[in-house]
Amino acid sequence: MSETPQQQILPIYHRRIGDIVVTAISDGVLLRTNEMMNDVSKQEGDARLKRAFRDQFALSINAFLLQSGDRLALIETGSGAYLGPDAGKLLANIHAAGVSPESIDTILLTHMHPDHSAGLTDMTSGKSNYPNAELVVHENEPKYWFDDSAMARGTEREKELMFQQAREQCAPYRDRMRTFTSGEVFPGVAAVPCHGHTPGHSGFLIESGGETLLVWGDIVHMPEVQVPRPEVTMTVDVDPAAAEASRRRIFDMAAEERLLVTGMHLHFPGFGHIAKTDGNYQFVPEPWQQTL
Ligand SMILES: [Zn+2]
Repeated sequence: MSETPQQQILPIYHRRIGDIVVTAISDGVLLRTNEMMNDVSKQEGDARLKRAFRDQFALSINAFLLQSGDRLALIETGSGAYLGPDAGKLLANIHAAGVSPESIDTILLTHMHPDHSAGLTDMTSGKSNYPNAELVVHENEPKYWFDDSAMARGTEREKELMFQQAREQCAPYRDRMRTFTSGEVFPGVAAVPCHGHTPGHSGFLIESGGETLLVWGDIVHMPEVQVPRPEVTMTVDVDPAAAEASRRRIFDMAAEERLLVTGMHLHFPGFGHIAKTDGNYQFVPEPWQQTL
């Protein structure tokens, strides 16, 4: 008799965009509470989750490998050892996908929060997990997270998990870091600045062979709440008003251009579309595809 399964075999999903193969890989989940949201009452937050048959405030943490010819990029590095046992599984899952971290030549970060940048470096050895990768990020990110006066204004938790984390995780990449403001950041990939959540927060627009995919980073943390109510912000937004404006702008762009989108906190693997009807947004997940 076969054994009873205890977990998924591999949290990995491939999606072809023209000549580029995008592979969604899970880092795990982040268990939080409704208190992470602003501009919505606890009752309404609970009610919306209940309506969506969700009894837990669990955020997917997704990362994406991009295979373009002989180049290999990774968008985000997961949360390493910073955010508890339900997360930090990205590196193991990259190995499980048959990809060697040494073969990754570029790391693209949407921003430097611990669920995105804390998998850059193994803090027990102090060595980078991606020894041959150039680190590519919007110039505002190191400018802000490496700024002592900005750090001094943070709470103890922010100092440790955000500012200190960004500094120690980026340390081995100091002489192989490239910053951008906009434009092409990797063959077939353009940065889409959508600041607010953090000062340099940026999505990535992948275009190849007439197909497109927008990897929108943290435009949404809790889809059941922030898609129908884009004015709901997060306690971790550095500039909540700008974060809301970016969310609305990206939703409108995705809806108008019928863009395929995915994100770091949409339910794994996160591919889908944004529909806009009578001013209301809806996320429509893309069905599983058998073939690439
Ligand atoms: Zn995040």
